[in-house]
Amino acid sequence: MSQGSPLDRQAPCPNCGAPMTFKFAGARAQVCKYCKYLVARTDRGLAKVGHVADLVEIPSPLAQGTTGYWDKKRFEVEGRVQIDRVGASSAPWQEFALVLQDTGDAYWIAYAQGRWYWTRAVEPTPELPPLGRLRPGAQMQLPVAGPVVIAEVGRRKVISAEGELPFVAAPGVVTPYADFSGPNGTFGTLDYGDGQSIPPKLFVGRQFDPATFKLDSGQPLEAPQAKVEACTCPNCGGSLPLVAPGTAERIVCKYCGTISDIRQGGAALSALGQAPRPPVNPYIPLGAEGMLRGNRVICIGFVIRGTTVEGERYRWREYLLYAGPSLGYVWLMEEDLKWQFVTPLPPGEVQAAGMEAIYRGSRYAYKQSVSAQVEYVVGEFYWKVQVGETVQATEYQGPGGVISSERDESEVNLSFCVPISGQEIAQAFRIAPPPAPAAFSSFTGSSGGTGAGCANPTLIWVVIVVIIILFVILSDCEGGTGGGGVYVGPGFSGK
Ligand SMILES: [Zn+2]
Ligand SMILES: [Zn+2]
Repeated sequence: MSQGSPLDRQAPCPNCGAPMTFKFAGARAQVCKYCKYLVARTDRGLAKVGHVADLVEIPSPLAQGTTGYWDKKRFEVEGRVQIDRVGASSAPWQEFALVLQDTGDAYWIAYAQGRWYWTRAVEPTPELPPLGRLRPGAQMQLPVAGPVVIAEVGRRKVISAEGELPFVAAPGVVTPYADFSGPNGTFGTLDYGDGQSIPPKLFVGRQFDPATFKLDSGQPLEAPQAKVEACTCPNCGGSLPLVAPGTAERIVCKYCGTISDIRQGGAALSALGQAPRPPVNPYIPLGAEGMLRGNRVICIGFVIRGTTVEGERYRWREYLLYAGPSLGYVWLMEEDLKWQFVTPLPPGEVQAAGMEAIYRGSRYAYKQSVSAQVEYVVGEFYWKVQVGETVQATEYQGPGGVISSERDESEVNLSFCVPISGQEIAQAFRIAPPPAPAAFSSFTGSSGGTGAGCANPTLIWVVIVVIIILFVILSDCEGGTGGGGVYVGPGFSGK
């Protein structure tokens, strides 16, 4: 690390005149802690860039000034930025700028949807692919990153920042970007700049294990196991479980159906409107904790989705489980009383082309593709879930299960679905077993595996009749609102 002269390192803030010290040789900008102006280091001294907004409260074990070891290398967090998507209904996220003491190398550390990522800017910036070619699911070759799949395309802007930064993150300036994913956890971002003062950049990195961080504070980067906290519905005052205040974005009240966005790390809720009540109570109660396949999980959300095939409406039910900071979110999905355990896959791990997809060297054959809509939703979600939200859901069947791909115009999400028995789910959550598919197996035929994103369009009238009977029998003992609800069978009875 070069030392630089004291003049390089210390100067008055060009906005308010307060003393400003650059601790890190590689820092290109700093937010004045007195007047909140972003100040850039230039050949001619310090220059004002723009005022940053107040920081949003997003909980993290990292903070400006945090020190420790990352894979035995000494680091310090020099600053952070908070970024928001433009024209998309999502909450801001933050990235920490971390500097390795020995080399002065800067890394960006981000936590999203229950996973940790690092990226580095590729210097100098190579030529980026034309923005118009980028579509969710597009496969391409990128410098440094290699073969990748475009996972998300959008526009973003820096809203706030603090500390020192390895580049000039001009607040409020909108830049087109795309996130990509490659084999072996490769992850990165193409940022196209604003065509004027902000140059294009390529960031490449990967997903990492939070256990590789040792903070001097002794606090693990991976927070302790998730525990159920509570927040209050702004409409009915009901106490709602909240397990992931750092990543949760929307909550739908299980008592009154009020939809709220979660702000300031879960401290405040803002009511947005009402969601229709699901016609059935979730079989796994919201807030239920269990041990599922070696992982402690909490059931936090329930969704009913449907698709129309040849004039018939098919529905299936999904349970969102939070499995703690290192594993993130997983799903249980039920259709025709058959269950699937659904785990997310990085899009870059799967090469889909035409009628097949390649995953870990194996072939998965195209099975079906449907347009799937959210019909009912209740609980806590890591995205701004809405009734009517639609994705194109495609399935590929192969060794061990089904690959499910869900795509809309801005992103693609992949998951792997393996069959799981209702008995195993009942034991995991210590609840009564769900109705067994065995009773209906002679009628339902071979539905095979179905993903969280896909319906299996097998409509058997006998099943409907049996389910209506079940509904009538069980609805008598239905246990009122939310939590301790009784499973009353799939709602195949139409609208
Ligand atoms: Zn200042
Ligand atoms: Zn409520």
